[in-house]
Amino acid sequence: MSEEVLGKILFTQEEITEKAKELGARITEDYAGEELIVVGTLKGAVMWMSELIKYIDLDVKIDFVSASSYGSGTTTSGVVKVTKDLSMDIYRKNVLIVEDIIDTGTTLSYLVNNFKDRNPKSVEICTMLDKPSRRTHTLKGKYTGFTIDDLFVVGYGLDYDQKYRNLPYISYLDPNHLPE
Ligand code: 5GP
Ligand code: MG
Ligand code: MG
Repeated sequence: MSEEVLGKILFTQEEITEKAKELGARITEDYAGEELIVVGTLKGAVMWMSELIKYIDLDVKIDFVSASSYGSGTTTSGVVKVTKDLSMDIYRKNVLIVEDIIDTGTTLSYLVNNFKDRNPKSVEICTMLDKPSRRTHTLKGKYTGFTIDDLFVVGYGLDYDQKYRNLPYISYLDPNHLPE
């Protein structure tokens, strides 16, 4: 792996696990006695969702959706494309969308509205990372892991051109050394 393009490690596996435990405990408390469908956004949220649900002590069902407002580079195209819809009916269910990172908020605001049209009982967001400085859509994750500056990050599910998703930590990508 071309480690030279990676900046310093922002969050280690241990720090991410601690955060998953903390948010998992809050979610467990908030949804006590309720049914919960946890919806991960492919592909970026896969690692964070896998970590988080270990610490949600409830009967959860999981599902996935794939929507993206990004091309293959590092900036948003502004247009949201859904390439895989939910496999479950969310009518009158509690839905928790698990996201890797909220940047402009384009993707999630689209998804939240799209899900609300199906009349669920509730829709909330749990995001691993939040970059509030770039927000163009009013949107606030109810559960936020870490708030970061406006720099492009990779690892723990997050990619650059489909690479680096498997890194067991989150790192900045050095903008001066973008890979081919
Ligand atoms: P938004 O629609 O909020 O602008 O963008 C959300 C999506 O863009 C994220 O789910 C993620 O796929 C991608 N994204 C935004 N910022 C970053 C970043 O710093 N690194 C990576 N790898 N993806 C990002
Ligand atoms: Mg995402
Ligand atoms: Mg991406």
